[in-house]
Amino acid sequence: MKAFDYLIVGSGLFGSTFAHFAHKAGKSCLVIDRRSHLGGNLYCEDIEGINVHKYGAHIFHTSNKDVWDFVNSIVPFNRYTNCPVANYHGELYNLPFNMNTFCQMWDDVKTPADAEKRISEQKAEALASIGGREPRNLEEQALCLVGKDIFTKLIKEYTEKQWGRDCKDLPAFIIKRLPVRMVFDNNYFNDLYQGVPVGGYNRLIEGLLDGVDTKVNCDFFKEPEFRDWRAMADTLVYTGPVDEFYGYRYGRLDWRTVTFKTRVEDIPNYQGNAVVNYTSHQEPYTRVIEHKHFEMFGPAVYDCPKTVISEEYSVEYKPEMEPYYPVNDVKNDALAEKYRQLSLAEKDVIFGGRLAEYKYYDMAPVIEKVLDLTSKLFK
Ligand code: FAD
Ligand code: UDP
Repeated sequence: MKAFDYLIVGSGLFGSTFAHFAHKAGKSCLVIDRRSHLGGNLYCEDIEGINVHKYGAHIFHTSNKDVWDFVNSIVPFNRYTNCPVANYHGELYNLPFNMNTFCQMWDDVKTPADAEKRISEQKAEALASIGGREPRNLEEQALCLVGKDIFTKLIKEYTEKQWGRDCKDLPAFIIKRLPVRMVFDNNYFNDLYQGVPVGGYNRLIEGLLDGVDTKVNCDFFKEPEFRDWRAMADTLVYTGPVDEFYGYRYGRLDWRTVTFKTRVEDIPNYQGNAVVNYTSHQEPYTRVIEHKHFEMFGPAVYDCPKTVISEEYSVEYKPEMEPYYPVNDVKNDALAEKYRQLSLAEKDVIFGGRLAEYKYYDMAPVIEKVLDLTSKLFK
């Protein structure tokens, strides 16, 4: 008899949700994580009574009612709605690009017709400057979609900071689906449901892992007990980096990463919003997050006398850093495909989540994937 039905490597959203359904189906599971805490990138640290999103701001959003009902059955979600603000040399603009942005950008724009006229003039100018051909890089694409004023103040330098290269050297597809709304609506997402768990994301993870055996500070590759994991579990659920699983035999996958500088401010309200994007090169960071605004609304902001701020910096990834976003360029996609072929051939291993699949997943699609997988496994 093996000790566990499932050994689950990684306690992020994929591993924790899988463990939840396996446990519910009467399967025994052990979840391990090499970090000192559970929850993967959803983990929040309590600083001054505020839940600080340690691995970057996380806002849950979905139009899938089953996913929304499921997460709310674990922990209720609040009414947080993501409405980022952009700061360009001290000028403030609402995002995403909508009627509020256009009225702030141009004094004589008051109606959707005014905005459409102004934007289409600038789009026509951009298209003429490239002789009517297809845009060949991000700069040309953005100018043809929204015109020079929005591109200059809200896209160019932010994108250059985020990607570490000139907009002319970035592919057009990154910005192909820029939302432009002719209504006064600052809601960043188009989804039916969005929010943040009441009490923070750790509550969601605790709820998912309720009754499941877990072990932190435990690296699958470094602990001798896992060398022959098949002796202890029937199936391995692996949510770590796929190239590491195979000892980097074809080479290392690249990632884009971000770092954070977090500090406490001795005032109750620093920027009046959870997310402010800094869209010029004047500031070296891309965004400033004020964490309390994810969970404290209206007068409640002032119940807590302090606030916690994180500046977000985009940096080139080096092997010892946390991997954040896959770099889905031709070279890395081809490498990931080679690893995927190896992983498909494994019999007793399930590969899942953003690191093991080398794929950017928002949280809701991770839940969707696990719901689908476990509904087949535990019929
Ligand atoms: P992870 O959370 O990374 O979990 C993997 C876990 O495996 C980690 O805890 C790691 O320590 C562990 N592990 C790896 N290797 C080993 C090993 N050898 N031994 C033991 N443990 C190991 N999604 C949204 O829906 N909304 C957002 O606003 C949003 N914002 C984001 C912001 C940032 C900066 C980033 C990077 C992502 C954001 N996401 C957001 C996406 C979200 O973080 C992912 O959907 C989610 O984290 C995926 O969970 P996962 O379990 O696949 O990965
Ligand atoms: N972007 C921009 N200005 C902004 C916000 C976003 O130009 O204020 C561009 C930028 O190129 C970025 C893309 O839009 O890569 C997608 O941004 P989003 O914040 O949606 O996603 P992220 O990649 O930061 O998760």
